[in-house]
Amino acid sequence: MRTREWVTEGTALCRRALVDCADMDGQSLLPGWTRRHVAAHLSLNAEALGNLVHWARTGEERPMYSSPGRRTTDIEAGIRRAPNDLRAWFDESARNLSAAMDELTAEQWQSTVRTAQGREVPAAEIVWLRSREVMVHAVDLGTGVTFADLPADFLHTLSEDIRNKRGDIPEVRGPLPDTTAYLAGRPYTKVHTLDGTPAQPLPPWL
Ligand code: ZN
Repeated sequence: MRTREWVTEGTALCRRALVDCADMDGQSLLPGWTRRHVAAHLSLNAEALGNLVHWARTGEERPMYSSPGRRTTDIEAGIRRAPNDLRAWFDESARNLSAAMDELTAEQWQSTVRTAQGREVPAAEIVWLRSREVMVHAVDLGTGVTFADLPADFLHTLSEDIRNKRGDIPEVRGPLPDTTAYLAGRPYTKVHTLDGTPAQPLPPWL
């Protein structure tokens, strides 16, 4: 499954970014978030998606997060970990999620789970949700990874997904990495609307 490869590739990009960056206290590309916040969020996301995998495997309902408030306090607690601990947590949570996904049968992948946004989706969508997180947040860590470093087939799929979910978005022209960054509400250049004016930034997505 190509989506599963995106998870592997995105995880490797995040891991390298986390190893390369000496300054975990530095600003990420996300407003108000340091790299610590992004790292903690990525690990908590792996654990949360692990809850959905458990749900798919056993039929026992287990939501991603017990509450929206809990999601925030878990990030605030997570960022207090030491940098090496944050890196190890990322690796371990990613490994655990991957091992859990390996155990699902074809039938379990088709069972219905509910995302944090309340959407009912087949469990197979868990893989897409995780690939989105690791790919886009690898860029957000702000250590030099850009949308141009992400696979083109992923960028196509992400662009379509965001267009479908965001609804009313102007048609734009530009190189695929830039138009995808634009749609995701990330920094971009060279994106124009059809009348040739520079596209106005959208709020961050994810
Ligand atoms: Zn996220």
